[in-house]
Amino acid sequence: MQAEIISVGTELLLGQVTDTNQVYLSRQMAELGIDVFFRVTVGDNENRIVEVLKTALGRSDIVLCTGGLGPTEDDLTKQAVAQVTGRTMVENLRALEWVEAFFRHRELPMPESNRRQARFPEGASVFPNPVGTAPGAMVFHNGKTIVLLPGPPREVRPMFETYVRPELEKQLGTGRQVLVSRTLKICGLGESALEERIKDLILEQRNPTIAPLAGLGEVRLRLTAKAESTSEARALLELAAQRVYERVGSYIYGEDDQTLEETVVNLLARNGLSLGVAESCTGGLIIDRLTNVPGVSAYLERGVVVYSNRSKHELLGVPVRLIEQYGAVSRQVAEAMATGIRRTAGTDLGLGVTGIAGPTGGSPEKPVGLVYFGLAGKGGTRVFRRVFWGGRVEIKRRAALEALVLLRRYLI
Ligand code: AMP
Ligand code: MG
Repeated sequence: MQAEIISVGTELLLGQVTDTNQVYLSRQMAELGIDVFFRVTVGDNENRIVEVLKTALGRSDIVLCTGGLGPTEDDLTKQAVAQVTGRTMVENLRALEWVEAFFRHRELPMPESNRRQARFPEGASVFPNPVGTAPGAMVFHNGKTIVLLPGPPREVRPMFETYVRPELEKQLGTGRQVLVSRTLKICGLGESALEERIKDLILEQRNPTIAPLAGLGEVRLRLTAKAESTSEARALLELAAQRVYERVGSYIYGEDDQTLEETVVNLLARNGLSLGVAESCTGGLIIDRLTNVPGVSAYLERGVVVYSNRSKHELLGVPVRLIEQYGAVSRQVAEAMATGIRRTAGTDLGLGVTGIAGPTGGSPEKPVGLVYFGLAGKGGTRVFRRVFWGGRVEIKRRAALEALVLLRRYLI
């Protein structure tokens, strides 16, 4: 089975929006063991959409289309499919009910133009959109399958997982090879340091294959196994993962969709510890990440952004002379921020972060990117010094990530 992916949208051709749906759908096809030989991007122009659809149907078994299911005049994907498959456009009553329900639940009037989203090529089998207005559909035509998905990535994913993948699996039947991946997420160990420790594993492994992918401040190790069944692939992955855990287990903070902040909050929960955070250069990014985790309110008492010297003094009791003597970005002030937030918040742990995000304000002793992290707990306060590189936003993000890395290390 071969698939082809067509993204529809002039914004994609103009480079205004990154075509992440292509990446997502390609990965899904790889996991299903379906080859993707072509990916096409086309603008919001009916004739050109027809042209690429014709070509796709001539060479691929499955044609996945994303985008152009919206309510406006430039949403033309469905009309193009109708034209290519020689069908008329009809109002689908199930789809109409879903679109109407979308507005009803939000207590909003439905604009007349949204009726368009319930129109599909005759005979299409439609499925609902759990998070948006545009329903999706499949059109079966001369032994080929055309899949119609919306454009917004957050709508594509649930729709694909819930309705499209099961249908494709059914079509694939049994006796096929499946690809299953597992991603081990690593922090506190750089890509080359990681590779050194597991080089032999990477080199000798054929199934699963092991590939490191470096991200901002973390490395993901993707293990991919090929087998007759998912359970067989999972068993192969488990064996390989165990060998990786033996070498670098303490740096693996989670797997697959698990985030570092989830790991930190789980560890706070397991240890029954509460946390207060005082941020200067990270401007609230640490709190932003921690508050992504549902249930964090049981452990996170407060977070304060103390940007000025005055606020460090007023809100945390950092002595003014300490700031004058050592500077706001110093080991001493990071320590005083950590103990200050721990005391004022009345928490088990206090985290204080102060640094120079740049681009100005650096000096030879205190370069741009220098960040001090103070971590106060029952047993005393520790301060960590790190120097990050990159622009201002990147330094802030790296510092926030490092704060979570340090918290995790403290908690394990
Ligand atoms: P549409 O359904 O074509 O109106 O698309 C709605 C929005 O989804 C677009 O404005 C884009 O921001 C986004 N979008 C559409 N296609 C893609 C794609 N292939 N990859 C990522 N985002 C997309
Ligand atoms: Mg569009």
